[in-house]
Amino acid sequence: MNTLSDLISARLAQLKSWRREFHHYAESGWLEFRTATRVADELHKLGYQLQLGREVIDADARMGLPSETVLKQQEARALQQGALPQWISHFSGGFCGIVATLETGRPGPVIGFRVDMDALDLNESQAEDHLPQREGFASCNPGMMHACGHDGHTTIGLGLASVLMAMKDQLSGTIKIIFQPAEEGVRGARAMVAAGVVDDVDLFTAIHLGTGVPAGELVCGSDSFLATTKLDVNFTGVGAHAGGRPEEGRNALLAAAQATLALHGLTQHSGGVARVNVGVLQAGTGRNVVPDCALLKVETRGVTNQVNDDIYQQALRVIAGAAAMYGVEHQVTLMGAARSCTPTQPWVDFIHQQAEALGVFDSVVDRKAQAAGSEDATYMMERVKQRGGQASYAIFGCDLAAGHHNAKFDFDEQVMPVAIAMLATLALNQAQFGGDQ
Ligand SMILES: [Zn+2]
Repeated sequence: MNTLSDLISARLAQLKSWRREFHHYAESGWLEFRTATRVADELHKLGYQLQLGREVIDADARMGLPSETVLKQQEARALQQGALPQWISHFSGGFCGIVATLETGRPGPVIGFRVDMDALDLNESQAEDHLPQREGFASCNPGMMHACGHDGHTTIGLGLASVLMAMKDQLSGTIKIIFQPAEEGVRGARAMVAAGVVDDVDLFTAIHLGTGVPAGELVCGSDSFLATTKLDVNFTGVGAHAGGRPEEGRNALLAAAQATLALHGLTQHSGGVARVNVGVLQAGTGRNVVPDCALLKVETRGVTNQVNDDIYQQALRVIAGAAAMYGVEHQVTLMGAARSCTPTQPWVDFIHQQAEALGVFDSVVDRKAQAAGSEDATYMMERVKQRGGQASYAIFGCDLAAGHHNAKFDFDEQVMPVAIAMLATLALNQAQFGGDQ
């Protein structure tokens, strides 16, 4: 019988090839058409039961969806780049989610893993000292780049699927691997939760690589993500001749500017860390016209859901107040959201204990110190916990060529087999989990 490490070693070339293919055909959030068809096809060939597209994504719970035109253009682009036509209809219109299930037929809990598939809206570096460029697998899609390692996550998900199928006689319970679109901008997970994809999951683990964790280290239960809400605000005023009839105008630019200054004064909360940022302010049409339109792109964050919700509610009041001051209309659109991250300690302890026993890490820790950004797998964690399940967020440390979201981001591919070994170990040994380690 092959050991886990033999099975992984036999797949190293495949892992590298998958990762470099996903990296080359980088696709931004909700546009993962090529990637999703390739993932579905590989999982199907492995023998997994698949749920695809609308079965795993609630249309109305999607946030920050690109326009109809962009969705159509990018689907056509994906087909030209080798997206598999036999799978594309499932994902058409921005439904690029996949859940692969393996029912072992033996009693046991449902163990779930979540990986994400989207790239960032970023141009990849074409410098010769950037390894993906030098080795010919840098992104071929302008303005889209895997600069956060989700190409690695997708590959880890497929590698895990492949290894677990090869060991299926040693597994019990049910294995579920969730491939999520649109994590960037925290837009996709809520729609998968709304479709019920984690409603039967007892033991849940989401993953990330890198994030400043040193190579060789495993963080078993990261809790450093902030709850967040992303909103677009459109102010609509009335244009008028700025010299001749200014009193007839309603100034949307001033409302947006007033709102911006007030929003940045909102970060006091006794509950802990709170943040507000207005990252974009666009307004007006011409020098001699009272501006009749303005757009703000705003985010709030908080160390707990409560802190974020309080700051968000205050932000809505500030925005409405600024609009009233200048007599303009305003509309708020929710573009993304994530919850705060609180893993369940028994599952963190189990991951910790299994990682020590596996012996492939230099260092195994429960959590990392510094606060990070936000992550929408927290919606899945929250849902699993509401049902009494266990949930955690694991981070696999690795060497990075540059920071996340940087045009020269790249990660050491050796992290992929290590992550697969760890996640496969959790699936193989889940029967040992008693909840009281
Ligand atoms: Zn990421």
